Amino acid sequence: MAATLIDGKAVAAGLRLRIAEGVAGLAAAGHVPGLAVVLVGEDPASQVYVRSKARQTVEVGMRSIEHRLDAATPEAELLALVCRLNDDPQVDGILVQLPLPAHIDSARVIEAIDPAKDVDGFHPMNAGRLATGTGGLVPCTPLGSLMLLKTVRPDLAGLEAVVVGRSNIVGKPMAQLLIAESCTVTVAHSRTRDLPAVARRADILVAAVGRPQMVKADWVKPGAIVIDVGINRILAPELGEGKTRLVGDVDTEAAAAVAGAITPVPGGVGPMTIACLLANTLTAACARRGLRTPLA
Ligand code: NAP
Repeated sequence: MAATLIDGKAVAAGLRLRIAEGVAGLAAAGHVPGLAVVLVGEDPASQVYVRSKARQTVEVGMRSIEHRLDAATPEAELLALVCRLNDDPQVDGILVQLPLPAHIDSARVIEAIDPAKDVDGFHPMNAGRLATGTGGLVPCTPLGSLMLLKTVRPDLAGLEAVVVGRSNIVGKPMAQLLIAESCTVTVAHSRTRDLPAVARRADILVAAVGRPQMVKADWVKPGAIVIDVGINRILAPELGEGKTRLVGDVDTEAAAAVAGAITPVPGGVGPMTIACLLANTLTAACARRGLRTPLA
């Protein structure tokens, strides 16, 4: 069986078009949504993400506000900036790029963000809202993963879902979203016994581990939908000496022979993350004006 490849780039492009329409509607009513991104230090991967976020923010018609702070910035200074952004009426979304330097307490910074502007969905208030099914802003990567799932299977009710990984930013919110879709959800992690057997139960298998190509073909139930969240850079001698390439947490080529549908890496979940960040910013901008998001 050859799995359907779920094209995250195309789905993300479609979502950005809908966002741009929504932004144009708000702009016509006098408000251009604004997304503030705060980067502390010079982590190269974070710099790439922040550049890409800023470019796509502008492309959908929003205002991009960037704050680049020195790696040695004291925590109090960062917290003061977050407070100013909370109070700034031009700012609808605030994202503090993680990871932060070791001397800064990330949890304290996340908790300082106004939950109504927390477009990453990491604030405990938004995590609680997701867990209780009472709205709020949802973390972007799981939100994008769910959208991809629904392109191949709109109704997920009753399916067995296994999420490998229990981080606050991917695994746990992914599990909450799948519970809300009426799946029967198992969350696996590094202490799970016989992970291949657990994974084989899954009609929906989400891998969010950070271990290159860990999920093998014989972990996949025939016909399952496999969502590969992992982004790992590995050496690729076949491309030349010292060259690298990106792979996911799933052995994609082998798993695609068994799965019903699978997301590639790159080009699967990755493009959805920034698109969902923009979607959350539009949602936040509408909610702050008492409007329903046009994306619902
Ligand atoms: P994380 O915080 O490091 O969490 C990894 C999870 O995997 C943990 O729950 C850990 O279990 C579990 N794990 C580690 N080794 C395992 C093993 N051998 N067997 C079973 N479970 C194992 O990572 P994350 O932030 O959730 O990210 C996961 C992956 O997604 C990474 O590759 C990251 O780069 C990628 N990611 C991609 C996007 C995107 O836009 N596509 C966004 C975010 C993250 P314990 O809890 O027991 O330690």
